[in-house]
Amino acid sequence: MTALDAADRDLLIRELGRPPRGVVGVAYRCDHGVPAVVRTAPRLEDGTPFPTTYYLCCSVLAAAVSRMESEGLMREMTERLEHDEDLARAYRAAHEAYLADRLELGDLGTRVSAGGMPDRVKCLHVLVAHSLGVGRGVNPLGDEAVDRLDEYFRGAKSCARLA
Ligand SMILES: [Zn+2]
Repeated sequence: MTALDAADRDLLIRELGRPPRGVVGVAYRCDHGVPAVVRTAPRLEDGTPFPTTYYLCCSVLAAAVSRMESEGLMREMTERLEHDEDLARAYRAAHEAYLADRLELGDLGTRVSAGGMPDRVKCLHVLVAHSLGVGRGVNPLGDEAVDRLDEYFRGAKSCARLA
């Protein structure tokens, strides 16, 4: 994780259309030069809970993920979780890893993580941000979504890459 500097802050305002909230640092810089995944504090300055520890900020990347969501991949992944024990186990481990990363920054007093984890897929933006933020091998469904994302950029430069 690297620190957010003034130039990053300007980029985030451009990408999000508002100042970023609760940012602790940058977890992934995309090929557009954007701090595309930021780690956020579990609570905003006013105390509002903010459980999404890895937040996707590149607008081009987020649009590609939205297109992917619209094609029913989340339902397909959730069905696979019901039948594939190895996948379900790995996804539960991703949930635990997410909670542990959040706990480093503060305790929300809840076992709810984000994105539908540990047994459903409700938001691919969360899973993609998690995988890009921590690297390959932690969140199997986030990794899979990133690997399948290229075709959804629709002519824009793809910027999601797992090492
Ligand atoms: Zn990008």
